[in-house]
Amino acid sequence: MAKKVIIVGGVAGGASAAARLRRLDESAEIIMFEKDEYISFANCGLPYYVGGSIKERNKLLVQTPEAMNARFMTDVRNNSEVTSIDFEKKEVSIASKAKGHYKETYDYLILSPGAKAMKPNIQGINNDKILMLRNIPDTDRMKEYVDGGEVKSAIVIGGGFIGVEVAENLVERGISVLLVEAAAHILAPFDSDMVVIAEKEIMDSGVQLIREDGVKKFADKEGKVEVTLNSDRKFLADMVVLAIGVVPETEFLRESGLKLGPKGHIIVNERLETNKPDVYATGDAIEIIDFVTGLKTAIPLAGPANKQGRIAADNVAGLNSRFYGSQGTAIIKVFGLTAAATGANEKSLMRADISYKTITIHPSSHATYYPGSIPMTLKLIFNEEGKVLGAQGIGYDGVDKRIDIIATVIRMKGTITDLTELELSYAPPFSSAKDPVNMAGFVAQNVLEGRSHMITWEEVNKMNQEEYVLVDVRSEEEYANGHVENAINIPVDHLRERITELGKLSDGKKIVEYCQVGLRGYIADRILTQHGFQVYNITGGYKTEVAQRLGSVMQAKNSISERGTLGYITVDSDTQIVSNKPKADTYDKELDASGLCCPGPLMQVKASLTDMMDGQILKVEASDPGFYEDIKAWCKRTNNELVDLSKTQSLIIAYIKKGRQGGNHLDSADSYAMMGQNKDNKTMVVFSGDLDKAIASFIIANGAASMGKKVTMFFTFWGLTILRKPKKVRTPKDFLGTMFGLMLPRGSKKLKLSRMSMMGMGGKMIRGLMKSKNVLSLEELIQSAMKDGVEIVACQMSMDLMGFKKEELIDGVKIGGVGYYLSEAEDANVNLFI
Ligand code: FAD
Repeated sequence: MAKKVIIVGGVAGGASAAARLRRLDESAEIIMFEKDEYISFANCGLPYYVGGSIKERNKLLVQTPEAMNARFMTDVRNNSEVTSIDFEKKEVSIASKAKGHYKETYDYLILSPGAKAMKPNIQGINNDKILMLRNIPDTDRMKEYVDGGEVKSAIVIGGGFIGVEVAENLVERGISVLLVEAAAHILAPFDSDMVVIAEKEIMDSGVQLIREDGVKKFADKEGKVEVTLNSDRKFLADMVVLAIGVVPETEFLRESGLKLGPKGHIIVNERLETNKPDVYATGDAIEIIDFVTGLKTAIPLAGPANKQGRIAADNVAGLNSRFYGSQGTAIIKVFGLTAAATGANEKSLMRADISYKTITIHPSSHATYYPGSIPMTLKLIFNEEGKVLGAQGIGYDGVDKRIDIIATVIRMKGTITDLTELELSYAPPFSSAKDPVNMAGFVAQNVLEGRSHMITWEEVNKMNQEEYVLVDVRSEEEYANGHVENAINIPVDHLRERITELGKLSDGKKIVEYCQVGLRGYIADRILTQHGFQVYNITGGYKTEVAQRLGSVMQAKNSISERGTLGYITVDSDTQIVSNKPKADTYDKELDASGLCCPGPLMQVKASLTDMMDGQILKVEASDPGFYEDIKAWCKRTNNELVDLSKTQSLIIAYIKKGRQGGNHLDSADSYAMMGQNKDNKTMVVFSGDLDKAIASFIIANGAASMGKKVTMFFTFWGLTILRKPKKVRTPKDFLGTMFGLMLPRGSKKLKLSRMSMMGMGGKMIRGLMKSKNVLSLEELIQSAMKDGVEIVACQMSMDLMGFKKEELIDGVKIGGVGYYLSEAEDANVNLFI
């Protein structure tokens, strides 16, 4: 006999169950009750419809009752709420808008009522300007309100995934947003050392953020909503969005005898069976097992809900499918950033009393020599046996696939050795030969196998300062740009020659050392350990310290964030009005530097300012994410004023007021002389004639020149080939000179890559890619460097040896000896050998 199956709830879990069941059993009678009008809609897309990224409302409606019936022969009864269930009689009671109250019996029942937004009993909460976002009617209301143009400001309560997505989308609509979070940090799946990166992005993008403060009450004031926080601070805005979490929608089951957990979640076994015969449950409403910790939990996400719908249908149809728990793999777009996490985090492991280790790395999204590569922060959590327990990633590109790979390894109960062995797809635009996931495995493996002695900044902070010496193993330049207090600087490449000095300094104490991201720190660890020191390399290096310092600064302020360093909230005597500082909108000249990679935008800014008068304002638009921090540092160093800095989804917009006397960005002899006194110049020995190294050296030179630095590039041996004219110049040569002349590339266009030359194809590919990514070509970089006053010096001695003559080199090249170079190097604080 055909089964009669009733499904309660018509969205993620319920609709999945109905479709799967029909595919398995053509004869079953399937009735799906949905209390609202819409079924199978895209909950996850709702914030983006409000924000305008999803333009058409009907794109949110994945299925209609009619379409569901036509394809899956499902009797969809929308606007029909199941009000109670008699499990003995196998009967549900329905309150239908169209049919009134009636009952329906079942052979099998699948419950997928989901979870609804929490609405605590706070004074003034029933205000029609306080909105929530769960379904299509909620979305229509919010969209209509925002579209009306009346909403200039909003307070979003709750910094979970939905709160952050709503905040971002309201900013997209030009609304000033204050985000209030009761916990120490937003986005609970991330540990505090990671989430501060996302918090900074949110603030940089114009959202004001208050943490560790909850709502005490709401009130109607001047046609707006006044929100009083527990700290008694008051804020006024046109609209409030409540997104403080969800609770299972199971009130109608409370008296039914169905077993519920302490927070109202339906208790199920691995087959998703409840304690009542032939009754299954799925989705946000059920309690599940945390796949990593084994503890009971609830994870309201679409992926698990959809899979559970399928599993429940399988079991109703007579198959034997199981759900083994959820690992909470989740991802969110935070303005330009991607933040993703899988498995356990430190908080959940501590709660479960499971010991663990962590490493943090900052690998690049793809090969650094291919344009557009951006570092990401990747944290891996594993246990003593090497089993991978969790991972978190935050960055601008490539985070999603790394977290998904690690999620897969966790699901397969894999180890860090598995991460090292994974063979992942690679070509320069997509990854590196050692993918970030492999790198995380290598670093973790070195830790577990005792080759690397990792320590976290938290652990260092707990150590007695008398017990150790803190060594910064980065370059002198990096150290000069910022370092941790009390750290002494010994660059990793000088460690061996300064071993005795370090021995005396440490006097038997432990060495705690760090580099920028942890990699050079590992090499330092290996060198020093083999010289008998007790060494600890700080995981994640200086970059992690900066992120954590940022976290604690934000924590210490515990107040409204500024928009970058520029935003504010207007304050009256009692209540603060949520509004951003008006954005700068007057300017004298506009520069579109979008599409250019670093240092292109800075070079263009410098060039644009040169023609402007003191006090005039330049508006710059750039798409390179690094420009946000670069331009702050650049303006500071060049004495130009950064009037305003903001981010949109894809652009960074800066307003720069040309400083008095033109700042120090002009490459005047005076400013160079002054910098010389400060030993601020940069020198480079370019020894290599490889295309990639030539590009790198000129990118650095242009970057430094745009910062107003005097740059001297000293070309020697194979490096001279970069400077050769493309056309043959007849000059008298001896035998060796003729041989060198014939065998070496004639000029920059003939250079090959140091690796992956592929019979010259590699070089052509890189040039093509640079063009497509709007990165200046090597020839343009050379011209730009010369125009900006970079001194190009050919080594006299190498020219003599190789038989090159001045006429064979491009115009503007100086010929100099080692003495000239050394005297320039005397006045430099950066000296590179390329
Ligand atoms: P739901 O999809 O909520 O469906 C339950 C349905 O049951 C509801 O339509 C409800 O009206 C109905 N119902 C309840 N009680 C009754 C009753 N007594 N009688 C009849 N009908 C009833 N997850 C992600 O993984 N990624 C995301 O990016 C993401 N973004 C989200 C954005 C928003 C704004 C929201 C609200 C959720 C988001 N989620 C996201 C969560 C995801 O949508 C849920 O985990 C998933 O929809 C849960 O499926 P479910 O079937 O349990 O419940």
